[in-house]
Amino acid sequence: MAEGDIIIIGGGPAGMMAAIKAAETLGSGTRIRLYDKNERLGRKIYLTGRGRCNLTNSRPWNEFSEHIHPSAAFFESAFRSFSNEATVRFFESIGVPCVELQGKRIFPSSMRAADVAQALERRVEESGVEVLRGISVSPSDLLLKEAGALIIATGGKSYPATGSTGDGYAMAETLGHTVTRLFPSETALHPREYSSIFSGEDFASGAVEVKNAGLSLRVDKDIVQTEQGDFNFTGDGLESGIAYWISRKAVWAMLNGQKVEVTLDLKPALSHEKLAARIARDVCEAHGKPQMAKILRGLLPESLIDAFRRANPDLSFENLASRLKNWNFRIDGYKGYERAVVTAGGVCLKEIVPKTLASRIRKGLFFAGEVLDLDGDTGGYNLQIAISTGALAGVSAAKYIQRSRLCEE
Ligand SMILES: Cc1cc2nc3c(=O)[nH]c(=O)nc-3n(C[C@H](O)[C@H](O)[C@H](O)COP(=O)(O)OP(=O)(O)OC[C@H]3O[C@@H](n4cnc5c(N)ncnc54)[C@H](O)[C@@H]3O)c2cc1C
Repeated sequence: MAEGDIIIIGGGPAGMMAAIKAAETLGSGTRIRLYDKNERLGRKIYLTGRGRCNLTNSRPWNEFSEHIHPSAAFFESAFRSFSNEATVRFFESIGVPCVELQGKRIFPSSMRAADVAQALERRVEESGVEVLRGISVSPSDLLLKEAGALIIATGGKSYPATGSTGDGYAMAETLGHTVTRLFPSETALHPREYSSIFSGEDFASGAVEVKNAGLSLRVDKDIVQTEQGDFNFTGDGLESGIAYWISRKAVWAMLNGQKVEVTLDLKPALSHEKLAARIARDVCEAHGKPQMAKILRGLLPESLIDAFRRANPDLSFENLASRLKNWNFRIDGYKGYERAVVTAGGVCLKEIVPKTLASRIRKGLFFAGEVLDLDGDTGGYNLQIAISTGALAGVSAAKYIQRSRLCEE
């Protein structure tokens, strides 16, 4: 690796924000180098939000923080120094107007993730940062480093085809840091005997969408998390939305050999009594002999009825309310890094100063983005982690360089 005042490894959203903010803080006459193993920066951004890029979430910190793991307290300084509001202002200033959709999720108005990635890449180039493409930095390169400051922003291990292959963890360890246990999160949960409930045909026209349902996660008999909202059944299991939200604790429990069960409540807005009364009324009002299929059509989306009946072969009008509110799944697997949205675990937060993202172990070393032991729920939280920590690490590294120069004078 060649010399530079600030060297940044990784040109994802965290690395690009670090480069932009470091250049802005230092002004001209400084050498900032950004390395990425790909020719194109921010490759993962192109995939985000199913190609639409859920850039951030507009919730205020007290709500936003509930979606940050394992330590929202650690992230707070970075968030306050470059918040979700600052993010929207920043993207609008670089030609990406934003729009808010359901769930306070912010997207580019064009609904094109490519616009976000390309605007960031352009801004990096306009900042005078030297971009070194197609170079995979190895941990041994770091020992030879001649940088005044080094920022590691290599991302996690999920979707490795994008370049995020977890290299930064070995770099951190080489430089004396601890890496906590890594595991895939925001990922599909696979129920036992799933193939007897759903067949390939059910997914012929895409995922089976479940709207406004309740999901409760049970680990070794205790309910540890309950969420309400949307998710999908796909060929891989329970996916997206609230299924992803419960996946973090579910995967962790499975890794620790615990029993994991999920209860789906298809009618969370109705108590058992009210639902039973509604079913009894529908049955009474049916002309002729009441048909289960017809009653179910009034209660469930068409695409879910066959699977629900297969899962409940003994279904009757008497037990229907209870089955709709308690569809139980024993979870026995999950999708790995190849399909997980984010990697949980990472560079140990105790070894990093939250106000600057500087290493407590090595002078001049900073970390940003998913390589840290920080991850968020789906909903714009992960990109905001990358953006806020990237911006803060960039400013902090620049200030570190300014201080070092003053000491030399
Ligand atoms: C399918 C999918 C959809 C997602 N959708 C959303 C969404 O809508 N909203 C949201 O908030 N989050 C979303 N995320 C998560 C979000 O994209 C990531 O959390 C975020 O990109 C992390 O940013 P980062 O800069 O830390 O790392 P990354 O984006 O992973 O970037 C790391 C960069 O480092 C480079 N690199 C790695 N190792 C080396 C090396 N040795 N040498 C040189 N370069 C290296 C890589 O090439 C890569 O460009 C999604 C993730 C996936 C997989």
